[in-house]
Amino acid sequence: MSEDRIPLAAVLGSPVAHSRSPKLHSYWLNSYGIRGHYIPIDVTPGDLERVIRIMPTMGFVGCNVTIPYKEKVMALADQITDRATLIGAANTLIFRRDGLIMADNTDGYGFIESLRQGAPDWTPGAGMAVVLGAGGAARAVVAALADAGVPQITLTNRTRVRAEKLKDDFGQRIQVADWVQAGNILEDAALVVNTTSLGMTGKAEMRVPLDGLQKGTVVTDLVYQPLQTRLLREAEEAGCTTIDGLGMLLHQAVPCFERWFGTRPAVDAATRAAALQ
Ligand code: NAP
Repeated sequence: MSEDRIPLAAVLGSPVAHSRSPKLHSYWLNSYGIRGHYIPIDVTPGDLERVIRIMPTMGFVGCNVTIPYKEKVMALADQITDRATLIGAANTLIFRRDGLIMADNTDGYGFIESLRQGAPDWTPGAGMAVVLGAGGAARAVVAALADAGVPQITLTNRTRVRAEKLKDDFGQRIQVADWVQAGNILEDAALVVNTTSLGMTGKAEMRVPLDGLQKGTVVTDLVYQPLQTRLLREAEEAGCTTIDGLGMLLHQAVPCFERWFGTRPAVDAATRAAALQ
């Protein structure tokens, strides 16, 4: 790529039109005065590899990857970071100047940074974390919590075997509880994280009984459409500290933007507003 080529980045997925990432990265590019563009690309499964192979030759320095390709792109990468390997999925590709493709996963980083920003008094040693769900996002959250030093993580998922698999992969600090017991374990938690799609616009509502939530517990929902889910609303009423899912989305983009465009962007109120436009 010639030096004066304008760097390009993208989010690949299908569907991808709803993604907030183009607004977010375009806002950062504009506010830092960086020449560059970030676009959504809707790719069919059959075209995925061809599209990724051609992108570097067109000036792309990297891309984000979203549903349903986060696992599939791992096979196309020449190098995979340890955290992406551990999670078993990548949300970021970096097209290196030497032609190699590097795969990374910044979801766990985004989750922890959002938690630190939204609940500055929370520390990993504060106590047990309850994680609802055991899908792809849960893997990133559990990896990040274990890495941060949370002493005990209780996982509960509708399909128990998926939670058991996570326990096998992430080790001793994890215990699995039955989904029907989810409401009963909340009162002992210092942190509660919803990683299921329950409560998301167009999906089923969260039906876990929430009356066990205790004042002072930190409660975070990965769902960000709507921003205030039933979980967050009831947690707020119970006196919990609540953090919505947009924070994770914004923070996971920070290392990507820095890697592609060379500037580490800030996540502040203006960034949130730009992503919500
Ligand atoms: P996924 O791999 O498909 O996992 C979905 C999870 O939701 C599974 O644990 C699944 O349980 C559970 N679930 C779905 N329907 C359910 C129901 N009716 N009752 C009980 N549990 C149900 O999806 P994902 O990639 O992990 O994403 C999960 C959510 O996180 C989505 O809403 C996504 O938008 C959000 N997310 C947000 C961010 C962010 O930056 N804020 C990042 C990533 C993901 P089973 O295993 O039993 O099916």
